[in-house]
Amino acid sequence: MPSKRILEYPREEALLRKKSQPVRAFNRYIKNIIRDLKDTLKERPEGVGLAAVQINVHMQIFVVQLGAKPESEEKTGPVITIINPEVIEERAEDKGFDGCLSLPGLFGDTVRPHYLHIKGLNEWGKPFEQVFEGFDAVVIHHEIDHLNGVLFIDRITDPADLFTVKEDDDGKLIRVPVTIKK
Ligand SMILES: [Zn+2]
Repeated sequence: MPSKRILEYPREEALLRKKSQPVRAFNRYIKNIIRDLKDTLKERPEGVGLAAVQINVHMQIFVVQLGAKPESEEKTGPVITIINPEVIEERAEDKGFDGCLSLPGLFGDTVRPHYLHIKGLNEWGKPFEQVFEGFDAVVIHHEIDHLNGVLFIDRITDPADLFTVKEDDDGKLIRVPVTIKK
């Protein structure tokens, strides 16, 4: 059994805990935030979503990589922008892999809906309504959490579900349980 590792809690936690405000006017400022989010996500191939709160802008905007797979950098879909999301229906809850660019090196198994029907505004500020399924639903649910100041570690109920990864002697990635030092 690998020994338990202890990770430092992120210093920017207070900023991540602040709730985001709805976008009231779709203007150049909002377009610039969207571009920033997309550029930042592109620079982090291990990431599949990024909310404005993670770049310290407390507005209800996030970008997500569709068609991603858990624990893989393979991506098959576009990056889309979602503004002011409202959940119409969520169901098909299941436990699965979770991680966050704001909590580097930390991963967990969380329960999230795998069917998510939402409405909101798209990257051009136009209303849309769509159903997302599978890991796409999980990723969008994670980002909606960010808008409410919720982090994936809040959804960990069993401490054994929180872990970091390291390579074993054969180069295979293995899970190492962690404790967060507050
Ligand atoms: Zn996150």
